[in-house]
Amino acid sequence: MARYDVLIRGATVYDGSGGVPFEADVAIDGERIAAIGSLDGASAALEVDGSSHALAPGFIDVHTHDDFACLQHPDMAFKTRGGVTTCIVGNCGFGAAPHAAALEMIGALAPAAAVPDYAGHAGYLAALEAARPALNVGMLAGHGTLRLAAMGRAARAPEAAELRAMEDALDEALEAGALGLSSGLIYEPGRYAATEELIALARRMRGTGALYASHLRDEAAGLVDAVGEAIAIGEAAGVPVQISHHKAAGRDNWGRVAETLRLIESAQARGLAVHADQYPYTAGSTLLRAVLDNGAFRDDVAPGGIGRVTPDDVVVAAAPGQAGWEGQSIAALAGLLGLAPRAAAEHVVAHAPGATAIIHMMSEDDVQAVLRHPSTMIGSDGIPTLDGRPHPRLYNTFARVLGHYVRDLGVLPLAEAVHRMTGFAAAKFGLVDRGTVRAGAFADLVLFDPATVIDRGTFEAPNRYPAGIVDVFVNGARVVAGGVPTAARPGRVLRRAG
Ligand SMILES: [Zn+2]
Repeated sequence: MARYDVLIRGATVYDGSGGVPFEADVAIDGERIAAIGSLDGASAALEVDGSSHALAPGFIDVHTHDDFACLQHPDMAFKTRGGVTTCIVGNCGFGAAPHAAALEMIGALAPAAAVPDYAGHAGYLAALEAARPALNVGMLAGHGTLRLAAMGRAARAPEAAELRAMEDALDEALEAGALGLSSGLIYEPGRYAATEELIALARRMRGTGALYASHLRDEAAGLVDAVGEAIAIGEAAGVPVQISHHKAAGRDNWGRVAETLRLIESAQARGLAVHADQYPYTAGSTLLRAVLDNGAFRDDVAPGGIGRVTPDDVVVAAAPGQAGWEGQSIAALAGLLGLAPRAAAEHVVAHAPGATAIIHMMSEDDVQAVLRHPSTMIGSDGIPTLDGRPHPRLYNTFARVLGHYVRDLGVLPLAEAVHRMTGFAAAKFGLVDRGTVRAGAFADLVLFDPATVIDRGTFEAPNRYPAGIVDVFVNGARVVAGGVPTAARPGRVLRRAG
């Protein structure tokens, strides 16, 4: 009689393919799924009753900024309690190496208490392995970090030696197992890069399977051209493309996603692997500094890459050392400080340089149009400022898609939503034997209740865990049991295969 390490009995299995769910027992031995089917005669050291629950591959958060959080908070409960078993780090040009530039870039997003010293991307991945996070981590190299290290904040094209330095650092990342290169073209210093610079770098990845992911140069009036630029970079370099947090920002631009979704479809028809990720909210979040850099609250310049925003639309999320400002809109702070809105925002940044903001800037129709589209996978884009008032997407992204958009609004079927969060994401990022419930695959699994799963974090109280996520397994070890984190930290670094 078969005996396993873990046996999950009688769950409705959504296997990550998007196909019809089926009822089965799922057995785990060591790190992998050992058997699926009717396993009545079998026993196990740990038996879990899965009846009336859904069992899916663990969710793959393809868009995170958890590079340092995985070192500082290796339990990663803010992700695992939402069903996430793999994070892709290094997005929007904010990569983890070279070290000094990474401290400046990622440290601005989420102030780094103690980050160990390390050399290069290989050193970062070794530091991750030493920290033993609870979930798996795949890494993108970040163009902004490479550029900052090579040429500081120079607002010009790189000289030959500077481009060479970026290429060498990218080669080192690819050698270490990076899954691709990200860019952040509204941010310092990525926004000074011309298309040619990005093509030159992306070319290093041709034939490796690594992808080019981009926070576009413009998500507002210039959105359509910016999607075109990302596609052109992928086509010229011969690499797959990932459009980060696909959206149309700013009221004047609502509805433009209809056109960008068509652009994606036509590039796919030409054979390019271009897809997107999305977080399920009408508000975004980024550095307040970046909001100002893009011309916010000024009448004398055209709005930049995040579109026209009003002082009521922008709310301080985290302001290290200035907790009293957190949760206040720029309009409210302007009143409080007796300053014009732009001056008030500059005052916040002067006193809390790493301040982040939540920006209410998208339409619900656009969010649903993007979510419904088959090119879209799910990425939280959460900024891990656990002490401030982070955007609720940090904890709640996947539960919100499953509860609010799938069950309550019927925007897409559950099996399809699970596919977008698992098998689809694993295929795009080259994660072998992940994102699937199949004998022989790694046992990254989430058991959830489709009737009750829901996001609970709000903009007022974002640090709340979602409901309905019951058990989570990473590489066969249970990291969440009955909704509560265990002490297990079985995560692996996921390096690019081949
Ligand atoms: Zn971004």
